[in-house]
Amino acid sequence: MTAASASSELTFPLAALLAEPAGSRRDYAFEGIRLDLGDDLVLAQPVAGHVRVSRTNRGVFLRGSVETALLLECSRCLRPIELALNLALSEEVLPALDIVTGKQLDPAVEPEIARLTDHHELQLEPILREAIQLAEPIAPLCRPDCPGLCAVCGETLETGPHEHDEASLDPRLEALRAFRVDADAETG
Ligand SMILES: [Zn+2]
Ligand SMILES: [Zn+2]
Repeated sequence: MTAASASSELTFPLAALLAEPAGSRRDYAFEGIRLDLGDDLVLAQPVAGHVRVSRTNRGVFLRGSVETALLLECSRCLRPIELALNLALSEEVLPALDIVTGKQLDPAVEPEIARLTDHHELQLEPILREAIQLAEPIAPLCRPDCPGLCAVCGETLETGPHEHDEASLDPRLEALRAFRVDADAETG
């Protein structure tokens, strides 16, 4: 099965809405969207949500919500975690062309505001991608009081602190340590 691309599923034609008076609106829902977020960020769940697009004097204003989940790694114990996201969208989008004259509007004016396409389409994909990227935590945790890993043996401290002396260390781990020292020496 060849699913439609995320960008086509997330493109909404607004020419008719733009011809209506301020306050007019459209509602759109989407689900099962797979987004490519770049190298380091992976979705654990497809994106679903809805937006209400309201005509303003200048363009449109969209409000909505998005649900998905990120596949992350606990920054203390390194176990994989799935972080559920429920994000609110609230964003103004301006036309690229003057609705009456069809002339290109100067994109240098208010460059921080998203634009519709030259065909008066709303492209939601970049807006969703940015919202999800901004929601990525800097140091995700599997739980707020994750104790992390033992600095000596690398085992999880989930079950509480433990004791060990050199003699009780796993010989396989010792071998690994020796290897690491060699590797460090080689890379300088
Ligand atoms: Zn953890
Ligand atoms: Zn330990």
